[in-house]
Amino acid sequence: MNSSTIWFLNLPAAIPVVRRYMCSSFAERYLFPPHDLLALAAVARAAGHRVVFTDAVAECIGIQQVIRLSETIRPDLVVSIMSFELFDKDVSAVKMLKQSMPDVPYILIGYYPTEFPHETLALTGADMVMLGEPDHVFENVLKYFSPRNLPEHITGTVVRKSTGDILANEPDRRVPNPNLLPMPAYDLIIPKHYKEPFMPNPVGVIQSARGCPYFCNYCVHSFGTKLTVLTPENTLEHILFMKKHLGVRSLRFIDDTFTAVPSRVIKLCRLMIEHKVNLPWTCLSRADTLYDEEMLLWMRKAGCIRLNIGFESGSQRILDILEKGYEIEKCIPHVKKARKMGFEILGFFLTGIPEETVEDIHYTLKMAKELCHFAIVDTLKIYPGTPLHNRYKHLLHFSLMPYKNEFTDPLLTQKATKHRKYIYRKFYFRPAQLFNFPLSIYTDASIKDTIPYVFKMVSRKVTM
Ligand code: SF4
Repeated sequence: MNSSTIWFLNLPAAIPVVRRYMCSSFAERYLFPPHDLLALAAVARAAGHRVVFTDAVAECIGIQQVIRLSETIRPDLVVSIMSFELFDKDVSAVKMLKQSMPDVPYILIGYYPTEFPHETLALTGADMVMLGEPDHVFENVLKYFSPRNLPEHITGTVVRKSTGDILANEPDRRVPNPNLLPMPAYDLIIPKHYKEPFMPNPVGVIQSARGCPYFCNYCVHSFGTKLTVLTPENTLEHILFMKKHLGVRSLRFIDDTFTAVPSRVIKLCRLMIEHKVNLPWTCLSRADTLYDEEMLLWMRKAGCIRLNIGFESGSQRILDILEKGYEIEKCIPHVKKARKMGFEILGFFLTGIPEETVEDIHYTLKMAKELCHFAIVDTLKIYPGTPLHNRYKHLLHFSLMPYKNEFTDPLLTQKATKHRKYIYRKFYFRPAQLFNFPLSIYTDASIKDTIPYVFKMVSRKVTM
């Protein structure tokens, strides 16, 4: 095997963005590393290649600087992940890079490349898309890779052949057992860049499970509905590595639904306590997965201080349209119990479902005020490939280049924005919210820092 230099590049962006297979979110007060690229970097290293990692977002470097960097790195292969809302900007960046080093193969991953591989290759000039969860596919690509030459017949890829034609190989979208993968190359990051609001930073970002077993119809899922998990022992190894080598002061689990399997969570929490991890942490959760009091107790003991819960709405009618799969009234007591146990509750909410009424928004606001310390409200994005897209596609205008994903009727968009601002205003701009904020925000960030931040959130200049 020839050892090559493989460059994992988080593309530059004018607006700070966290790119993940599952979603991309704009970030100002928070930033996570591109975890999917770090996982692939570990695969490349395990195969004996020299890996170089650049996070152009974290390092605030533009495309011209990245091109100059490429002249120093002189890679044999480049790998990047594409975002959602900045897809067209990412296309332009890849295209410029590809033009500046035409002989260097370029591989792309991400949700849109997987949904639209032919279009992605045509628009960017890149050479290969690895479909779905790319780790095993990448292992196979590297087995047959020789410097500057990509193999053409690897399952799970769509590839530009030497003749210039595009070849779509059979898909191979899932990794059955993530425990057999090497630990993501966490050591390549500069920890100080990565942060989560109102938490001690730098933050260490861990994915201990992939996929999500629920069926919300607006969700692109991270890779699929089959949940595959790292063992608690393996997850602990990641945590201890980050603590020891990166000096992280908090942890964030980016599993789609960390609390999906209580027995696994309990086992991990016990291990974290046994091994004296002693770091505060946060995770993503669902309102109907908090029924297990024992799990919540262990989570608190192991340092979990915030549950980020995708409520989406307080209206059962809207939740049914989104096929959320639960009755919200049955979940509320469990969330209240978690709050009483000392968890901070951060709720994610959506506006913009075409059938949404003012009454639905009032249910949402009432629930947010009752349950949440923080509320993040977004307008619904309906992505191609999701069941919700099939339902509403007659109402939507979608194009990759220039990137557009919006209702054809501007009134629907205006209604969504109006509802979003209304919830934000009514949630944050009430005197009671000053006492509702957890104490930690007053110690982590001064009021002077926090208030402009909330104003920015309300005016949509920043998301949390
Ligand atoms: S809970 Fe629903 S929205 Fe969240 S990741 Fe799972 S399927 Fe997607």
